[in-house]
Amino acid sequence: LKIINVVGVRPNFIKVGALHRAFLHNKDVESKIVHTGQHFDAKMSEVFFEQLELPQPDYYLGINGGSHSVQTAQMMMAFESVLLDEKPDVVLVVGDVNSTVACALVAAKEQVPLVHVEAGLRSGDRTMPEEINRILIDSVSNLFFTTESSATENLLREGISKEKIHFVGNVMIDSLVRYRQKAQELHVGKQFGLKSGEYVLVTMHRPDNVDSEVGLKGVLTMLASIAERQKVIFSMHPRTRLSLQRLGLLLRLTAMEGVVLVEPQGYLEFLSLMLDARLVITDSGGIQEETTFLQIPCITYRSSTERPVTVALGTNYLASDLSPQTVLGLVDEIVAGNAKKGSIPPLWDGHAAGRIAAVVLETYRKPS
Ligand code: UDP
Repeated sequence: LKIINVVGVRPNFIKVGALHRAFLHNKDVESKIVHTGQHFDAKMSEVFFEQLELPQPDYYLGINGGSHSVQTAQMMMAFESVLLDEKPDVVLVVGDVNSTVACALVAAKEQVPLVHVEAGLRSGDRTMPEEINRILIDSVSNLFFTTESSATENLLREGISKEKIHFVGNVMIDSLVRYRQKAQELHVGKQFGLKSGEYVLVTMHRPDNVDSEVGLKGVLTMLASIAERQKVIFSMHPRTRLSLQRLGLLLRLTAMEGVVLVEPQGYLEFLSLMLDARLVITDSGGIQEETTFLQIPCITYRSSTERPVTVALGTNYLASDLSPQTVLGLVDEIVAGNAKKGSIPPLWDGHAAGRIAAVVLETYRKPS
């Protein structure tokens, strides 16, 4: 059985790391990796291949930048020729970025069975580019793997038949389980003068928060007020850096008292920073899940989440009014020791990739 796994951005590498390993446990599976190039610099791509023990991609399409439509179209053209050459039995896509939707559409048009891992998540907010991608990908997929029950319910509501949906847990957590011990020994915070349990870890990169002046100024106001009470370390996504530069706001951030500004961190380094943090503030999808698994308090600075289990069961709070006061109030509660305890969602146990591999093989293995 020949499977092509599509990756393009940071969280994809972390998920496919676990999946590729699980596929290789089966002798009759050929698992290939196509990297679209959406994230290309060493800090957003190469380091993840090294740390997650992924082989170099079989194909590197080298497509990044441009508008959403240009990028998606170029990826479709390049991926179509890979499909025509390779003739895989299955295409597997993860998540919800442009690389995912581009390659999903090509597989569907070429009638290659399409597997979506992390299917069915919905924020209900169609102004989010990822929400459009999620809806499109799920509308052309053949087999659906979900991480939480809300995702299964969303797919059923959209008319997907229940035999095609498999609730298997979370492959991102598989990688976390595998590398946690290694990261635990690093104590990366110390390198930046931060004491374990005494700092707030922040990431921001969603277009809503970082593309406009209003959004970005809101983030800066929030950071400044938190830094008055707690040390802050901010891992700056390339998109956020570019936007800060374009809007002339970078200096305001670099000069901010109590804020340590760092480049995007490697997987192990970031995991270490999470493990030692008092709490995390983010607009990331994956980090909401990782903090829930690690039972570290998380404040999500977004108007909605497509991962409601992290709020319902986990340690995540949604600061949906995007007000610095709301975030500050939550920070105070958490620091005072009143954070909700949270529990780990069902099947987030480090074995999701194995379950996925078993179902994919059972569904698509050719009769010998
Ligand atoms: N991450 C990382 N280094 C960083 C920030 C995040 O390795 O400096 C990891 C994080 O642990 C998680 C993933 O990147 O596994 C989340 O990716 P991102 O927030 O870019 O994307 P999203 O999950 O929002 O799609």
